[in-house]
Amino acid sequence: MKNKFFMTTEVNDYVTRITGLGGENAYLIRGSERALLFDGLTGVGSLKAFVRELTDLPVFLVLSHGHPDHEGAAFEYGECFINPDDIGLMYSEFACGIEGRYNYVTAPSPLKPDTKNVVTMEDVLPPVPVKTWPVYDGDVFNLGGVQLEVIQVPGHTRGTIVLLDRKARIVYSGDAINPNTLMNLYGSTTIEEYKESVLHLKEYQKDFDVMYGGHGLDGIPASIIDDALMLCDKILDGTDASIEEMGLGGIGYLAAERGPEFLPVYGGFSNIVYSKRNIRGKKMSAVLEGRPYIDSRA
Ligand SMILES: [Zn+2]
Repeated sequence: MKNKFFMTTEVNDYVTRITGLGGENAYLIRGSERALLFDGLTGVGSLKAFVRELTDLPVFLVLSHGHPDHEGAAFEYGECFINPDDIGLMYSEFACGIEGRYNYVTAPSPLKPDTKNVVTMEDVLPPVPVKTWPVYDGDVFNLGGVQLEVIQVPGHTRGTIVLLDRKARIVYSGDAINPNTLMNLYGSTTIEEYKESVLHLKEYQKDFDVMYGGHGLDGIPASIIDDALMLCDKILDGTDASIEEMGLGGIGYLAAERGPEFLPVYGGFSNIVYSKRNIRGKKMSAVLEGRPYIDSRA
């Protein structure tokens, strides 16, 4: 199915991927009793209305993390599940600002069609207060015959979660781990903390074969976990490729040389963009922006 803002592709007989104008992905996962929408895209056009045409089941929204290209539909559902560490981020100007989200879907990119004449600022959902249900590692969403297990993977953002479907042997991974894992953004953890998260995810590696992420590539093999651990170690040792590049989070360093189709030339799937100020140690605080009336030294 397709409209001006969204298009679908089927992952399996109970999961539909919905792609937004920025090439960002959400997943509608249907059980016998209810459906889970994993991520809300950028909030340009009504994803809620689009989803209504895909299923008659009651639908609830779960966010992989609090970034602008994942939280949009929260502003029309009015409630969502999110790890508490990303709530500040979710309400920050960076994440919910109308102009930023408009620019995200209309930015020219070789990876997607030109959308400048397709959408207007009026198509961008205004941010509203959202009831946030906390979600934590080990929680299981029960959809009736379909279970999705929550795994926390702090890194890209401190509140990042992924969902494991043991029956289908699939992990829905948001931006947790992919060929362009941005670790240089506001709210990213250090590389040392990220490595711990990837080691935690590795405990589940035997339970799935592929990952479906928030952008691009279909079905990334579970071996990406080993690639990411290898790159984390190289960054920590100072032996990675360390290629300077200008991107979303300003200047970042790419851990491995990038080849065609955004994949690294070493033959694996993981690549990491990081900040040299954010490699070792542990950050004490979660994302702090977006909270009124507080002076913070962080
Ligand atoms: Zn993100």
